[in-house]
Amino acid sequence: MTVEIATRTMHADAKAIAEAARILRAGGLVAFPTETVYGLGADGTNAAAVARLYAAKGRPKFNPLIVHVADPAMAQGLAKFDAAASTLAAAFWPGPLTLVLPKTDDCPVAEIATAGLDTIAVRVPDHPVAHALIEAAGRPLVAPSANRSGHVSPTAAAHVAADLGRRIDLILDAGPTRVGVESTIVSCLSDDPVLLRPGGVARAAIEDVLPAPLGEPASAQANGPQAPGMLPSHYAPITRLRLGATRVEPHEALLAFGPTVPPGAAQAVAVLNLSPSADLVEAAANLFAHLRALDRAGARAIAAMPVPRDGLGEAINDRLARAATPR
Ligand code: AMP
Ligand code: MG
Repeated sequence: MTVEIATRTMHADAKAIAEAARILRAGGLVAFPTETVYGLGADGTNAAAVARLYAAKGRPKFNPLIVHVADPAMAQGLAKFDAAASTLAAAFWPGPLTLVLPKTDDCPVAEIATAGLDTIAVRVPDHPVAHALIEAAGRPLVAPSANRSGHVSPTAAAHVAADLGRRIDLILDAGPTRVGVESTIVSCLSDDPVLLRPGGVARAAIEDVLPAPLGEPASAQANGPQAPGMLPSHYAPITRLRLGATRVEPHEALLAFGPTVPPGAAQAVAVLNLSPSADLVEAAANLFAHLRALDRAGARAIAAMPVPRDGLGEAINDRLARAATPR
């Protein structure tokens, strides 16, 4: 991770795609073209790879990522489709439409990729290189735009190299992207689909194939109330979360970080360590899965040890703070 060599850019021919797929299967990061913008790809089933992706982008928060699949059949292994979702997939895939759907019970996508939610955003990109790469990797790929957090989305390989060079393993170059804006995101969690983000497919085109107009997001403001049937936009445990814990109180579970064992840990209802070696990338990869497991431990509260705020620590602390806020 610390080796400072310039990232290779390869013309996206069959040989380069095979090399990229090998890197992705090994947990590496590959930027690749889609019809919208260049995406930064990682194996969506590999929590550590997804954590490295957040680190490479320098994202201060763990937003749920869009999972890219090769075809609708692959999507059905990850998400549950109702009638509206099936209609939209049939009409717009492959293409710049992302659907937010309930996860399947045996969805193999890592918790960190969906930020711990029970829902998943999926799409089938309409680009021969993206399609070939997903097929060759044989995995769903998470792929947010291949830029540093807060920078503009890249529509050419050179933009990716300028922004993320040295932080990722390979860039596949297939020239400028066609659409140039991100995918439209439609949530199909309630009876009426809701437009969450405008993008490459126009609202009118979507409404043409649906029996009723699209609904508006429950609230534009980040933590506003949810409309009935809408699932929360942030994962939060049912069990109370106590932050900054330096000791474990009776009947608490412990979310540990680092090598130090705090007083009371031996009596904890359950103990999981985000990273015994205090590695923030490892901690990020474990965060949502550990929270979920401790939530099921039957504890009075989950005592979370302090996590430093550098690197991915900022995003980890952001999520812990949200998880500690009662709904
Ligand atoms: P991007 O960074 O362009 O890949 O954007 C991903 C977008 O998808 C963000 O706006 C996310 O909030 C949204 N998204 C991904 N997963 C979900 C989900 N499960 N529920 C709602 N929105 C999602
Ligand atoms: Mg982006």
